[in-house]
Amino acid sequence: MTPEEAMDRIDIMISDDKLWEHYTQDGKIAFQNALKASREAIKKKVPAKPVHDGVENQCPQCGNYVSETRENIAWVQYEVIEFDGSEVFRDKYCSECGQAIDWSDEE
Ligand SMILES: [Zn+2]
Repeated sequence: MTPEEAMDRIDIMISDDKLWEHYTQDGKIAFQNALKASREAIKKKVPAKPVHDGVENQCPQCGNYVSETRENIAWVQYEVIEFDGSEVFRDKYCSECGQAIDWSDEE
């Protein structure tokens, strides 16, 4: 199952009234909130393109700046690519919310 399929299944479950008819209102809300939290966690693992504001790149989830050049954050968060013969450091994940970042079109 792909992450997209898992998110679709969760959406279907949340909106399936028949599924929830035997739950109390509180139980339904608690269960649906757990499903929504799971969906958000899955979504952050699917790389998403940064939003370019004209100067810098921002996380598409939370708006935190994601960087191609910072060097003072844990090494594990970076992928290192060769660009014009020099190394470029890119955040693989947003340091604020954990959203995976897709740099595939950035050359
Ligand atoms: Zn973020």
